[in-house]
Amino acid sequence: MKVNENFLKIKSSYLFSGIARKVREYKEAHPEKAGEIISLGIGDVTRPLAPAVIDAMHKAVEEMAHAETFHGYPPEYGQDFLLQAILENDYRAHGVELETTEIFVSDGAKSDCGNIGDIFAEDNKVAVCDPVYPVYVDTNVMSGRAGDPTEHGFTNIYYMPCTAENNFLPALPDAHVDIIYLCFPNNPTGMTASRAELQKWVDYANREGAVILFDAAYEAFITEDDVPHTIYEIPGAKTCAIEFKSFSKTAGFTGVRCGYTVVPHALKANGVELNPLWARRQATKFNGVSYITQRAAAACYTEEGKQQIRDTIAYYQKNAKVIYEGLRDCGFTVYGAVNSPYIWLKTPDGMGSWEFFDLLLNELQVVGTPGEGFGPSGEGYFRLTAFGSAENTEKAVARIKAYFKK
Ligand SMILES: *Cc1c(COP(=O)(O)O)cnc(C)c1O
Repeated sequence: MKVNENFLKIKSSYLFSGIARKVREYKEAHPEKAGEIISLGIGDVTRPLAPAVIDAMHKAVEEMAHAETFHGYPPEYGQDFLLQAILENDYRAHGVELETTEIFVSDGAKSDCGNIGDIFAEDNKVAVCDPVYPVYVDTNVMSGRAGDPTEHGFTNIYYMPCTAENNFLPALPDAHVDIIYLCFPNNPTGMTASRAELQKWVDYANREGAVILFDAAYEAFITEDDVPHTIYEIPGAKTCAIEFKSFSKTAGFTGVRCGYTVVPHALKANGVELNPLWARRQATKFNGVSYITQRAAAACYTEEGKQQIRDTIAYYQKNAKVIYEGLRDCGFTVYGAVNSPYIWLKTPDGMGSWEFFDLLLNELQVVGTPGEGFGPSGEGYFRLTAFGSAENTEKAVARIKAYFKK
């Protein structure tokens, strides 16, 4: 037998394993400081699930205990009660009308972002932002669409640098591309795109016959009016965009697992509707989200669920503000935080992003994520997250302030 050699082209995830190794080595060398380490590096939430979600899960578990209310295999594309709640709250509330058959409930946005490539031909040209969420690139490498690795990235991937110079907004490609991954609010930069900016992309994609794969995992963190909550707020998006949403960052579902993908019926490639292709892909390789999880997700849209989730998001937003303002006040150039749980900062004095990582770990026992790990254009930047506890966030910022103010 032969393996899929494309897998051999992927570097092992040296970013998070590299961070873990450095932290482990530091703890071994300085056992007395091990307890002092604060991580503002993780992209995982820490607050518990909303009480309304927990109640809904308990009820659903109880239903599973009795033959009359037991649920076996769920519908492949989602329970109607959840699809209706999504339509009403995530779309109609923003002036967007969709049909339930355009929504596919899943176990999360990572799987869907990764699996969506199944419905596209291998010789499509893929465009990604740099820095970027690694899943978009790695899944295209696995399927053979990315070409070969070079020092500057993969030969068949079109990289779009996003730096302070362009306000972290990619420029339209100067050559034809077929599949464009966009993520706003962005991980890792924490920056976002206005309506006018997204309209340029929708117009480009419609003109070029390209598809936009829009990752809206951080939609719940949007605070500014000019930032669209869904790509379908942009006229023309239904003929060129697929949208990924997740309950992970919205409602703390990283360990529960639920998300959904929207594939509008109006989206076609050479006259072929993409929606039934994704429906077939899901029905063949995926068996639906558990009833208990879908009840949990639906509870996010009840009045009390919405309020509880808003409170948790507000907790993280306060952390983001503490980090953003604390760093700004001691002279850092900082980005993100306003519509995002991520703070993206310029490393001081032109320091490399790993060098800055070492400094924070060794001097302050604070762990963050070097920007370079998200792509070459992330060099010279550093990511901190607002997902820690308020107490640890304050403590970490106080250490940074004390050190960099002198
Ligand atoms: C966290 C995250 C997701 C969500 O992934 P899930 O699989 O739904 O937990 C998707 N995209 C980006 C960019 C993320 O950071």
